[in-house]
Amino acid sequence: MISEEEARQRILEKVTLLPERAVPIASALDCFAARDYFARLPLPAFDNSAMDGYAVLASLCNKGERLRVVGEQPAGLDRKLRVNAGEAVRIFTGATLPQGADAIVMQEDVTRDGTEISVNVDVEVGEFVRRRGCDLAEGQMILTRGERIRAATIALLASQGFANVTVGGEAAAAVISTGDELVKPGEELQPGQIYDGNSVLLRALLQRCGVRATAMEHCRDDRESLDDAIKRGTKNHVLIITGGVSVGEHDLVKEALRELGAKIEIWRVAIKPGKPFLFGNIGECFVFGLPGNPVSAFVTFLQFVRPAILRRMGATNLDLTQVPARLTIGLTNDGDRPHYIRGRLEHGKFTPVGRQESHALFGLSQTNALLRVAVGQSLQADEIVQVQIWDS
Ligand code: AMP
Ligand code: MG
Repeated sequence: MISEEEARQRILEKVTLLPERAVPIASALDCFAARDYFARLPLPAFDNSAMDGYAVLASLCNKGERLRVVGEQPAGLDRKLRVNAGEAVRIFTGATLPQGADAIVMQEDVTRDGTEISVNVDVEVGEFVRRRGCDLAEGQMILTRGERIRAATIALLASQGFANVTVGGEAAAAVISTGDELVKPGEELQPGQIYDGNSVLLRALLQRCGVRATAMEHCRDDRESLDDAIKRGTKNHVLIITGGVSVGEHDLVKEALRELGAKIEIWRVAIKPGKPFLFGNIGECFVFGLPGNPVSAFVTFLQFVRPAILRRMGATNLDLTQVPARLTIGLTNDGDRPHYIRGRLEHGKFTPVGRQESHALFGLSQTNALLRVAVGQSLQADEIVQVQIWDS
C-alpha cells in the first residue's frame, strides 16, 4: 500500500495531455487555455465618455458658465469634433472624446437652452472620461496557459477580437459500475438488491470537471461481461470502474484489467475512505478502479481522478479550493490512514456531518467540504483548519 501523496504524484507523472484544439469563444466555458494570451488592444481602446452629457474643457468651465453646443458625438463613429473655449459637444456614453475636451458634464448637471447650456456644477479635469488603456494595456497578459476559461474570460477575449481560443483537449470518459446487486433507478428492486448510485455520482463529478461525453455501463460480477465492458470503455481517454476492486472473490476488476493488457501502476492507497483504489492504463486510456462504497468512490474521485482528468485537459490548478475554517469540535485520527472527514462549511465554521463511514451516502449529501486529518493528528475545537470545498 502506498501513501496518498505518492499515489497522486505517480498518477500526475503518468497522465499525458490531450491534443489542443481551437474552439469558438462561445463554446470555451470551463475549458483550459492551451497557451498564453496577450492584449491586442488597450481597454478602453480610445478616450471616451462614461456618461450621457457634454464634453467640455474643465479649466474653462466653472459653475454657472454658459457654453455653446457646437456638435453632437454619438457612440459608434468618431466625428473628429473639437471643443474650444466657450464651447461644449453633446456626447453619449461610449462615444469618442472630442479633441480639446478633458471632462464630461452629466446631462443632469446642465440646463439646456436651445444651442446653449449653463453648467450647474464645478467640473474637474478627467471627470467621467474613460482614458485609453486605463483598464488594460496593449501587450498585457490576459489569459495564462492552463487557466480555466470563465464567463468574464470569454468576454475579455471577445473585447480583443478573438473569435476562437486554443484550449486543451476534451476528455471522453467511460464509467462502468460493477456488481450483481445493482439495479438501475426506476426499475423494481428485489430483496438484497440496491440501486446503482455511483454511475450517476461519477457522471456528475465528471461533468463538474468539464467532461461532457461520458459513456455509462453497468455490468455484473462475471468476467465475460466485465471484459467486454472494459474493451468498450478503453476506447475513451479515461475509464472509471466502480466496485469490484477489493479483495473478495467477486472483485474481478484487477484480474480482468491485467489479462486485457493493463499496466497497473497503483493498487491500494493509504486513504480513508478509499483504500482499494486502482490506477493503470491500457494503451492510451487511463483506468481508475474506485471502491464500490459511494463515499469512498466520491473521495477517491476528488483526490485522484479529478486532478488527473484536469491535467489531461490542460489545467494547471488541479486542487479543490481550500479555505480556512474554524473547527466546531475536536477530532483525532488514531487510524493508520489520513482520514477525509465530510462536513459542512458555513459562515467560516466546519462541522463534521453524518456517519463518517464509507457507505453513508445521506451524510455525504448534507456536506459541502472535506477536512483531511493526517495520521496521528489531533485537532482541537475552535482550531483553524484548511478545508477543501467540493461544492460551492
Ligand atoms: P465492492 O467495492 O464491489 O465490494 O462494493 C462495496 C460496497 O459498495 C457494497 O456494499 C456494494 O453494494 C456497494 N456498491 C458497489 N457499487 C455500487 C454502486 N454503483 N452504487 C451504490 N453502491 C454500490
Ligand atoms: Mg461488488
